[in-house]
Amino acid sequence: MTSQDPPYDGPDDRGPVAALRRVAFLMERGREETRRVQAFRNAAATILPLPVDEVEARVAAGTLTELPGIGPSTAAVIEAAVRGRVPDRLARPGWGRPRAGPRGPPPRGRVPDRLAKLEREYAGPLTAGGHDLRRQLRGDLHSHSDWSDGGSPIEEMAFTAMELGHDYLVLTDHSPRLTVANGLSAARLAKQLGVVDAVNDHLAGAGFTLLKGIEVDILDDGGLDQSEEMLSLLDVRVASVHSKLKMDADAMTRRMIGAIRNPLTNVLGHCTGRLVTGNRGTRPGSRFDARAVFEACVEHDVAVEINSRPERRDPPTALLELARDLGCRFSIDSDSHAPGQLDFLDYGCERAEAAGIDADRIVNTWPRERLLSWAVGGSK
Ligand SMILES: [Zn+2]
Ligand SMILES: [Zn+2]
Repeated sequence: MTSQDPPYDGPDDRGPVAALRRVAFLMERGREETRRVQAFRNAAATILPLPVDEVEARVAAGTLTELPGIGPSTAAVIEAAVRGRVPDRLARPGWGRPRAGPRGPPPRGRVPDRLAKLEREYAGPLTAGGHDLRRQLRGDLHSHSDWSDGGSPIEEMAFTAMELGHDYLVLTDHSPRLTVANGLSAARLAKQLGVVDAVNDHLAGAGFTLLKGIEVDILDDGGLDQSEEMLSLLDVRVASVHSKLKMDADAMTRRMIGAIRNPLTNVLGHCTGRLVTGNRGTRPGSRFDARAVFEACVEHDVAVEINSRPERRDPPTALLELARDLGCRFSIDSDSHAPGQLDFLDYGCERAEAAGIDADRIVNTWPRERLLSWAVGGSK
């Protein structure tokens, strides 16, 4: 893409692509494993470059499954969309318009398709509370793409964040030492920054910005797992502990405070590292002097992350309330590893609202310019 390209004028509204993306989004939002969703995302990628006429002809001839990556399940979604059998929701802006298919209007009395079923099962509210706060969030400071351990390309994360109404999304793939998550070397991160620039060029005028970030590992000695030079090129830096979670409490406290003191650190990610549910099993949180850690966050103006992932719910409520009482700022983050998980912010909002945390203390309720000014130390 070049600067000569016309400005971005909205998400792709071709029926089948929009339907496949919506199926994948709902499955991810409903906490289905990313690999189970992959077939629908792959099918959308197969269909996207094809002329509409060809897709319609293949529906009519029953030859969709001859295309790479299209099986019976994905072909059924494509066929339903081409024939105009899409739920009302897809007719709304942002999710594509239903089209009259090659064989006219939808037949009456047909069994509802997969998408209609998913809309019924998974499109409802994720939480009972937190909705007022959710409406005040303007973006998300923690997300992963398939450059590290996420399941989708950078642009798909950006498009979905935009469709959810975000003004910004910070892309925070992992740092080099987290090899199990395919952490980015300095060279790969430098390359990724070019991709982020290209995505933003493409989205110019859409009122959305993909921000440059990292989830940088906090090393055993409190250092950060990326060069100062690279970190200083980023907009927002989330620092998290991912290793030796069971280390001695005093050493863990020193380690975390070391990272918090680093002037480049903006957000302390999932501070205890606990897992409370899910297919990775459960584990207790790290032990550390939470008062000392949160006081350091106040002193150095580092936001305490409210990690929205259902299996994390981090910090635990007692620590969340301690951080609130000590005057910390917060960032409610999805830590999404798939586009549909960007909606997990609802879970964090419910917890923040229950803890009575003022919206203005939550940095992602701020407009982009205020966030960026804070992140470079403007209000530190
Ligand atoms: Zn993490
Ligand atoms: Zn993460």
